[in-house]
Amino acid sequence: MLDCHYHLDESSVSVDGLLKSMDSCGVSRTALIAPMCPDIKHNLFMALASPVFLRLLRSKIKAANAAVRAIYNSWVKENCQVDVGGRLYPLTIQPDNKRIVQVVQEHPERFYGWIFVNPKGLEDPVSQIDRYSKIPGMIGVKAHPFWHSYPVSMLWATAACCQEKRLPMLIHLGVGENGDFAWLAKNFPGVNFIFAHAGIPYQRDVCALAASAPNVFVDISCSSYINVPIAKMAVKLAGPKKCLWGSDGPYFHHKDDRFDYSFYVQLLKNLNLNSEDEKNISSGNFEAILQGQSK
Ligand SMILES: [Zn+2]
Repeated sequence: MLDCHYHLDESSVSVDGLLKSMDSCGVSRTALIAPMCPDIKHNLFMALASPVFLRLLRSKIKAANAAVRAIYNSWVKENCQVDVGGRLYPLTIQPDNKRIVQVVQEHPERFYGWIFVNPKGLEDPVSQIDRYSKIPGMIGVKAHPFWHSYPVSMLWATAACCQEKRLPMLIHLGVGENGDFAWLAKNFPGVNFIFAHAGIPYQRDVCALAASAPNVFVDISCSSYINVPIAKMAVKLAGPKKCLWGSDGPYFHHKDDRFDYSFYVQLLKNLNLNSEDEKNISSGNFEAILQGQSK
């Protein structure tokens, strides 16, 4: 299995702990992202509210979607903080790609790295992509217009650079202009976009677009944003060639320097896929993107 979405938060799980966790759960390789916040904790509120939130978000009733999206949007606070389950976490404006490069170079058989950019940050995204994309194993670009709070149009130079270098982008969408997935897909047909967490907060619409747009994919990572009904919806709407397995670890599932992959392994099993679809979602679709075969 290939995990396309994991945050290297070494205060929660060390590199060695992650390798052991991958080995014990059959994960051959993991694509690392620099962390942008301290370790996020699950609490009772989240456990109770999450299923209701997710149900309303994937509802066919537009008013329900809009109401839930407004709540989702309210989690991003002023002065670079985010509210997760009623608790405030400070965000990193410029996530540290150097550490990701180091770990990828130390374990080239086990890790890939995403180059995390922020067009509102301190470093120019294009110069970061120029520098890091030359390094073997640094596979594409991650952007978080939701938590870093910017319109996706600010990713114009980043996406143009990815198009030129044939690099995929992993994007966690915000709301409104911060989540304009259709604009990205239309303007950069040469970039394979993987929208995180089935395209939250536009899961139904993003998955529907993935079915028709060759450059649109979704990942089914993060137990706060994905459950079995949503993952099934993603596979049904986007198609089994357009969904990628991932964890969004180490958040919510780590203990004693181990990341517990079992929720995500079980999630995939619970989709009751045939073996070909399961293989494509667990690794084949991501491999195809990395080999540039999906273009
Ligand atoms: Zn993530």
